[in-house]
Amino acid sequence: MHEVSICQSLVSVVLDELAQREVGAGRLKRVRVVAGQLHQLVPDALVFAYELLTRDTPAAGSQLELRVPPLEATCKRCGWQGAMEPPIFLCEKCGAGIEIKGGDELFVEELELAES
Ligand SMILES: [Zn+2]
Repeated sequence: MHEVSICQSLVSVVLDELAQREVGAGRLKRVRVVAGQLHQLVPDALVFAYELLTRDTPAAGSQLELRVPPLEATCKRCGWQGAMEPPIFLCEKCGAGIEIKGGDELFVEELELAES
């Protein structure tokens, strides 16, 4: 399950951030993670891994929210630009091959904290 290894790096970012901001245990409510489509994460598997990996940490009990932005594609032949949904990697207009921008991003976008 590659969700576990990806989740490990996300959790360490979250824990670092909590330590830096001196956020006490139980105050983290939600973590929003952005992961490009090329990672092909299974949301349920990621959430499961997150719950497992945050157990007994200051992030325990918080929720993971996954945001998967659409891929930006540009057609090499006709110049069409638009959002792309895998597994279709062909131009909507002319059917030619396209160039993909992004899709491999992976980062913690936001930490939502409870009021102290
Ligand atoms: Zn095209």
